[in-house]
Amino acid sequence: MKTIFNYIDGKLVKPKKANYIDVFNPSRGKVYAKCPESSSSDLTLAIKSSKKALNSWKELSNEKRSKILFNIANEIEKKHKEFAIAETIDNGKPLNDSRSIDVPRAINNLRFYASAVINDSSESHSLPNNVINYTLRDPLGIVACISPWNYPLHLLTWKIAPALAIGNCVIAKPSEVTPMTAYLFSKVCIKVGLPKGVLNIVHGSGGNIGQEIVEHPDIKAVSFTGGTKTGKIISKTASSLLKKVSLELGGKNPIIVFDDCNYEEMLKTTIKSSFGNQGQICLCGERIFIQDSIYTKFKKDFVKEAKKLKIGDPLKSTTNQGSIVSKAHYHKILSYFNAVKDSGAKFIIGGRSKKVRGDCSDGWFIEPSIVEDLSRKTKCYKEEAFGPVVSLHKFKTRDEVIQLANETNYGLSASIWTSNLKTAHKVAQMIDFGIVWVNTWNLRDLRTPFGGMKDSGLGREGGKESIRFFSEPKNVCINYS
Ligand code: NAP
Repeated sequence: MKTIFNYIDGKLVKPKKANYIDVFNPSRGKVYAKCPESSSSDLTLAIKSSKKALNSWKELSNEKRSKILFNIANEIEKKHKEFAIAETIDNGKPLNDSRSIDVPRAINNLRFYASAVINDSSESHSLPNNVINYTLRDPLGIVACISPWNYPLHLLTWKIAPALAIGNCVIAKPSEVTPMTAYLFSKVCIKVGLPKGVLNIVHGSGGNIGQEIVEHPDIKAVSFTGGTKTGKIISKTASSLLKKVSLELGGKNPIIVFDDCNYEEMLKTTIKSSFGNQGQICLCGERIFIQDSIYTKFKKDFVKEAKKLKIGDPLKSTTNQGSIVSKAHYHKILSYFNAVKDSGAKFIIGGRSKKVRGDCSDGWFIEPSIVEDLSRKTKCYKEEAFGPVVSLHKFKTRDEVIQLANETNYGLSASIWTSNLKTAHKVAQMIDFGIVWVNTWNLRDLRTPFGGMKDSGLGREGGKESIRFFSEPKNVCINYS
């Protein structure tokens, strides 16, 4: 049994009240670690430590802060294998994915912001008659970064890297469901000599310590990634205290397939956008709209490809579908399946759990599932399942599919597959999603704004957006006549 500790004031420490939460290996269905259920006394220590560290951290040059972040990235790179295995055990995702997606993306996040901060510039605006304005961007102070379980290390670093790079101190709360790589990350911070108090990682459940962090008067801003329901709670709390919030929330993303697309490329990518990370990616396309002329062919080929996915022990290199992250989430997806069946829709494949033999016989596995005839009036059509399930829908015209795609309260991402430039531009312009891909999916350039419209979030992350979020502009106007 492994024990996870909080990272407070540069040290690994036990929670003051000695309360712990069980951490499960979801592919085995067994507890393998315990993680602190932190309380206000732990948060008080973390805040105290950040307050002590803040001035010297923000006064350090951008180059020095950048160098520390590069060192953290390099150290994670050296421990690439250890991090990847830990992520797979904690989350249930295939080791191939942890190795090729999660860990490299975390390293990239750190390097990207380490480099961005030394290449950043501030604005100036001159007026006639010897007047100039210049805008300073100061760090906010102590900020909170709250991250989910689907990409534990990747999304933790995506938030803390920009926050730290520009001189904030961070109180981070990873998901209690997958706390292991954040713990390994704290060990790396100690090893490379991140000054104590600059980053404090306080583990525990969202409704308890998460909520206390958001409410704490010394927390100036909250960067949150997670579900829409939690996002709304955080937004309500933070706005009543006039705190800045950035919310990256759920999605019910459309994949739009026109009959003139590069079919092979579309098919290969749509398998990933449907079942990657067992469908537990906020960017997964749960609604697939296919032009009627190729609907039957698509259905046949898509089912054939989905059947090839190998569900099994995520530690095996042959596996490309691991387990669902937790028992609670597994049951949530299965209850979604029941609602789909009750609605009269039918599963072409899947729609049920999967037993994996051997070491994983108690794990939480679900078959890749494809639904047809799902009524657009049902809750299942509208709500995010966040599992390995997609529904297929026919459309005839461009205008029709624009209307169908927009028929959701969410607005995170969309993919359009067509070789017609006019169609691509027109649809991209008319659909209400923060991220639109054409002839690709989940292709990331860290300089671009990332985030959703409507119930998918508030604000954007990435590139300058994160730097702006984690800083306070101060305009200085000088009359030098
Ligand atoms: P979640 O239940 O909303 O939790 C996210 C984080 O918030 C966890 O660390 C959670 O802690 C914490 N939390 C819960 N209640 C809180 C509160 N009242 N105050 C402060 N923190 C609180 O989401 P999840 O189930 O982990 O993640 C899945 C969701 O995230 C999906 O909807 C997915 O679409 C979304 N997501 C969005 C993006 C994006 O970029 N837009 C990226 C990834 C995931 P506990 O784990 O301890 O409850």
